Formats: sequence, C-alpha cells, structure tokens
Amino acid sequence: MPSANILNVGTELTSGITADTNAAWLARALGEVGYVVGEIAVVPDDARAVGGEIARLASSGGVLIVTGGLGPTPDDVTRDGLADAMGVPLERRDELIETIRTFFDSRGRAMPASNELQAMLPIGAEAIANPRGTAPGIVARVGGADVFVLPGVPDEMKAMFQTAVVPRLASAGAGVVRWRSLRCFGAGESDMGERLGELMARGRNPLVGITADEAVMTVRIRATAATTTEADFLLGASADAVRARLGPWVFGEGLDTLADAVARLLTQTGLSISVAESCTGGLLATRLTDVPGSSVYFRQGFVTYSNESKESVLGVPAKLIAEHGAVSGSVAEAMAVRCREIAATDIALATTGIAGPSGGSAAKPIGLVYVALADAGGATVRETRLGAHLLRDQVRDRSVKVALDWLRRTLMKRSSPE
Ligand code: ATP
Repeated sequence: MPSANILNVGTELTSGITADTNAAWLARALGEVGYVVGEIAVVPDDARAVGGEIARLASSGGVLIVTGGLGPTPDDVTRDGLADAMGVPLERRDELIETIRTFFDSRGRAMPASNELQAMLPIGAEAIANPRGTAPGIVARVGGADVFVLPGVPDEMKAMFQTAVVPRLASAGAGVVRWRSLRCFGAGESDMGERLGELMARGRNPLVGITADEAVMTVRIRATAATTTEADFLLGASADAVRARLGPWVFGEGLDTLADAVARLLTQTGLSISVAESCTGGLLATRLTDVPGSSVYFRQGFVTYSNESKESVLGVPAKLIAEHGAVSGSVAEAMAVRCREIAATDIALATTGIAGPSGGSAAKPIGLVYVALADAGGATVRETRLGAHLLRDQVRDRSVKVALDWLRRTLMKRSSPE
C-alpha cells in the first residue's frame, strides 16, 4: 500500500497547550483512502525546524501532509520552511491576494495588510483553495514526495483534505482501510483477550485490537481491502464473531456510551427511571440526561449527600443509617425503593459509597460502592470494590458506569427474555 507521513506545526502543539487532533484525524482519513501512515511528527513554529522536518519526511517518498503555520502572523513560518526544503525563495502571487481580498469583502471587512503574507508561495508550488478561511493550502514536490500543506484549523484542514487532497492522491482507490469499534464494559483487557483468542492474531485481516479508557474497553477492527464494500463485508463478519464471543460485555458501537445503550433500551421497553445519589453527587442523573430525548424516560433525580437529606427527602429510616452506616447495602436499597415510590417510576437506581480521598477505613475502604436497583419485583443491591488506588473522580465515574451497566443488563433481559 502507498505510504504517507504527517507533520503538524505549532508551538502550542509541542508545548502541550493544544492536543494534536489533526494527526489522529489525518491518519485515519489517509487509511480510508488506502495509505499506511509511517510517521507522525510535530515541530514548533520555527522555520528551520519545519524545513528540516519537511526535507527529512519527504526523503522517504510517498505523500507528506503538513498542517498549521499558514496564518498571517510572523510566527506562521510553514511557507518559509517549505521554501527552504524545496531550495527556492518565496514569491508573491497576485491572484491569491485577490482571492483573500474577496474572502474579506464577502464579510464586509477590509483585508489587513498582514494577510498579504498568505499570498507568498515557494516558486514552483501550487496553491489550493481554502473555502473556509484565508490561508490557501500548498501543493509541492519535495525530494521524492508529494507534499500537501493545509491550515491548522481543524475544520479548514478537514474540508481541504477531502475536497483538494483526496482527488490528487495518485493511488486513491488502490485500496481502502476501514474501521469499526465495538464498545464493551464489565471485563478487563486480559479476559477479553482470552475470549477473542485467534481473532486477535497479528497479521490477520481484519486486525482486531483492544484499547481501554476509564474501564470502557473498545475492540477496534481494521479491515484492508480493494474496495469499501469488500472492507465493510470483512468488518461485518469480524464484528459478528467478536460480538458472539464477548456477549453482553458489548454495549454499543462507534462512540456509544453506556448511557446511550441504556437510552435505547429504556425507549424500546417504555420504562421510566429515577435516581437517588449519594457518592455520585448527581453524575448518574447527568449521564442519563446527557442523551438527547432522555425526557421520555428520565423523571427525577435526588442528590441526598447528607444523612439528614437521606432521611428527610427520601425517608430512609434514621435507625437504618445508625445501624449500618450511610455507606451500606441496606441504605442503598432503602434509597432506591423510596426514590422509586416518590418519583413513581418503573425503575430506580441508588448509589452510596466512599469516593475518597479521605473517609476510607479497613472495613469500608475508598472505592467501596453500593448500587441498588428497585423495580416492581423489589430491590437488589450490589457491593462493588472499585479499588482504593482510584482517584475521587474515577470512583464516581466508575460507580456511574457500574450502575448504568447493571441497568442495561436488566433492561436487556426485559426486552428479550430467554
Ligand atoms: P489560520 O491562518 O486559519 O490561522 P494556520 O495554518 O495558521 O491557519 P495555526 O495558526 O497553526 O493555523 O492554528 C490555528 C488553530 O488551529 C490553533 O490555534 C489550534 O487551535 C488549531 N490547530 C492547529 N493545529 C492543530 C492540530 N494539529 N490539532 C488540533 N488543532 C490544531
């Protein structure tokens, strides 16, 4: 397959102020038109560094995509770097000045003199139109490589890549790489790896890999084929095989969250939900209502953080709290039952736990969380020990995920009883 390199320019990237999202987007987009990305490099706004990297990355041939540093200010030095790498000076292109002036005219503004800098191009380079901004892109030949320089602003970069770069890639259509992601919860990487077995063999096509992000596991499937249809067919077969092996661990695809999965099931079953929260402090209600259209099933949330509020708002007996402690299965259960009654919903979830960093003990360590689920059949409680090493945010986040996943599995049984 043809190869490509990516170079992103910006001191805000090398200093960590801005995350280099262009690199990830471009690597994926290049893969989709059949290119394998060999290297991704980042350099600060320094003409020598830019020129040096362009020359180095172009020496391996193929295609080089450069983003950033095309603006009108003195720290925008990509044009100079490119000219250095090509071994030619910059020249002023009058026709580009007119295009930039038209861009400002159409917005009722006069073109600042500094924007004339954007009409400077290395001799022998070609400009590509930027329908969304003032900085024209540049196409040039450096060493053995076709170099495409695009603005750093992600929207402008993406639009120009699709409209101007893709049609010029010599081997577009020679092959495609397509991806599919299955989202999973409830198992660790090694358990999932064991179940997936030979599906994860290196060199296999499609290639199956696992990544973890705050307890949500993503199985990424990458298929390489001559056409999109063929790649999608391969992806479909592998995704089915992965789903069959991972069963209910899989909760969705793409960018799905557990709340999205729960939303689909609540909508499908027509059931309503309310929540009573202690350690999650409203995060469970937030996640549930993050999903557009959640008013169909979400009725009410109570944040009962203190013992008093558990008693006065939910009616949890003071005696129960005194006997078992606020972080206990009995209190979680009473919270869920009372929440369901007050909000008059089909299902209620409750959380109580120790989020830390203080408040843990040998008997009740940080990360000890009780989640209760109440429905028409009564209430059930789960004790989860998330781990004393977790940070407060992580304990709260995982508690919400545990609760949502339990709700998801309960709803799955309802929507397709065995
Ligand atoms: P313009 O002329 O429109 O300013 P430019 O080519 O000069 O384009 P930069 O100044 O390098 O673009 O970047 C503009 C903004 O785009 C940055 O402030 C940053 O927010 C965003 N940006 C630049 N490069 C990247 C990148 N690699 N990943 C994500 N965002 C980026």
